Amino acid sequence: MDISEKILALKSEKPVTILAHYYTPLGVHKIADRIGDSLGLSKIAKNEVDTDYIVFAGVLFMAETASILNQSKKILSPDKTAGCPLASFLTGKKIEEYKLKYPGIPVAVYVNTTAETKAHADVCCTSSNSIEITQKIAEEWNTDTVLFGPDKNLASYVRNRTSLKIISIPGNGNCPRHNLFSKQDVEKAKKDHPDAVVLVHPESPPEVQEMADFIGSTAGMLNYSYEHENEGGYIIGTEVGLMEHMKWKSPQKLFFPLNTNALCENMKKITLEKVLNVLKSIGTSEEKQYEVKVPKPIAEKALISINKMIEIS
Ligand code: SF4
Repeated sequence: MDISEKILALKSEKPVTILAHYYTPLGVHKIADRIGDSLGLSKIAKNEVDTDYIVFAGVLFMAETASILNQSKKILSPDKTAGCPLASFLTGKKIEEYKLKYPGIPVAVYVNTTAETKAHADVCCTSSNSIEITQKIAEEWNTDTVLFGPDKNLASYVRNRTSLKIISIPGNGNCPRHNLFSKQDVEKAKKDHPDAVVLVHPESPPEVQEMADFIGSTAGMLNYSYEHENEGGYIIGTEVGLMEHMKWKSPQKLFFPLNTNALCENMKKITLEKVLNVLKSIGTSEEKQYEVKVPKPIAEKALISINKMIEIS
């Protein structure tokens, strides 16, 4: 039995559902029950999972979001050290400092934040609904200004598509993987694959977004690749895991990375070996070490900003 077969056998014996993010290794996608982006998976965890345990194959803030939305389920992370440098840019304490500096201005945060950060925000947003959410929260607060964090590139994406004054907090926040994309990468990729279309994530720098044929979330890019037939292929400007997923799902199509270094080492910490270990721990005294449980007071406050997003989007 290889490791994937062992995981599938063990999974069928235990009350568990495995959810995997697109950026985890492809082997993990193949043994997962569901694959998706961070908020999509958390919604699946809340509305569509009937097992007592969820193994969340993704970085820690994603497992935290699942915990916020599912306080009654046990959320297990194969590796709790899998953090997110983007999420680390903005803490609840920093948000409180900005609120003092800009009284009466709402704070919108990207879902790529810790539970503690979400607990201090007024509303959450995803890359797909960021424009709509910022416009609606500004309208509700009767202001033309929104404090937006932590990703400066997503902030710029929103600023360029609304008439709002978007103040990026903390100003220099970025995902090191998406922020490395450059104009030169796009020029080279277009030269190498002249008939390919360029798809980029809004966490990419503005000058890269400007050169793209399509800007969208991971799910948006995936849907684009399903819905469009482009013989020249697709240049993918996001973490390389999504491109590997696309190749797996559409083997007849051509996919090229915008930059092969766009590899999130934290997502790649979620290996098959670790998934097997976490499954083995279920129902034993070992499971505690894998559990991600956001304390109730923080979860309740964070849920307000998540529910606000759901309410106004
Ligand atoms: Fe964080 Fe970027 Fe990795 Fe996503 S790809 S988990 S935003 S560091």
